[in-house]
Amino acid sequence: MTNHKAGFVSIIGNPNVGKSTLMNALVGEKLSIITPKAQTTRHRIRGIISDDEFQIVFSDTPGVLKSHYKLHEAMMDFVNESLEDADIVLYLVELHETPENHSFIDLIRDIKTPVLLVINKADLAKDEELITAEKLWKEAVPAAQIIMISALQGLNLGKLMQTIIDLLPESPPFFPKEEMTDRPLRFFVAETIREKIFMHYRKEIPYSTTVVVESYKEEDSIDRIRALIFVERETQKAILLGHKGESIRKIGIEARQEIEEFLNKQVYLELTVKVSKDWRNNPAMLKRYGYM
Ligand code: GDP
Ligand code: MG
Repeated sequence: MTNHKAGFVSIIGNPNVGKSTLMNALVGEKLSIITPKAQTTRHRIRGIISDDEFQIVFSDTPGVLKSHYKLHEAMMDFVNESLEDADIVLYLVELHETPENHSFIDLIRDIKTPVLLVINKADLAKDEELITAEKLWKEAVPAAQIIMISALQGLNLGKLMQTIIDLLPESPPFFPKEEMTDRPLRFFVAETIREKIFMHYRKEIPYSTTVVVESYKEEDSIDRIRALIFVERETQKAILLGHKGESIRKIGIEARQEIEEFLNKQVYLELTVKVSKDWRNNPAMLKRYGYM
């Protein structure tokens, strides 16, 4: 195996330039989980991409703004905190912005961390506009590498990813490879299901069970959640399912109702029971299920 690479990439920029859209696009569909509520955009939100050879920990941050309220200061703390950790700064601007009204431009100029200056919304531009924009930013931040993208249409995102990977330091991963975010929503969903299992089953069943949220699709009017319930043996699976699946259906209904209350939104919850042999004694499995 080649040496593993990993690092923190801080996505910063003015409000509305497409930071969240970009992180969603880079991390993939699952990231939509971390923005079910408006408040999440007030925080630093981590989105993690892993494969065998690398891990990128993105931080989506609130848009850089002047502080009018304590809240804004707190939001800017998230931005600064994210910058302090960063191995790479991804400074996102949009096509028609100019370097003048960027309060962070000095910081970006002086920072020791490699800066990728990413010009977003290229889909809205004519070729000559792209050339002009690139020139302008090159003059303003000579040390930065400049990349044009469209986060919305997926333009040049592969190139952006490769550029980031090339800049990553050698490091072991910072998070379990299956983790997509530091936000607790999936965890909440999984724990709710587990709680129902604890309430409805007896003896060793609850203790032999763990729950993993496999997919979470946020739509306008409904969140579609698929969760896997792992037990240690086939016999336990049969008990969990119950006659004609009646028992597991009951769990699904109760868990769904509680999650709906929590999200204040309609939820479709699909549960699948699987056997993960003796997972409780398997460090690799324990890690995968979030216990280590
Ligand atoms: P943030 O405030 O920087 O996180 O920006 P958002 O990701 O919330 O995006 C702000 C707006 O810009 C949204 O309406 C997006 O749909 C739009 N947007 C983001 N990326 C692009 C892009 O590449 N092209 C176009 N045309 N619109 C985009
Ligand atoms: Mg945002």
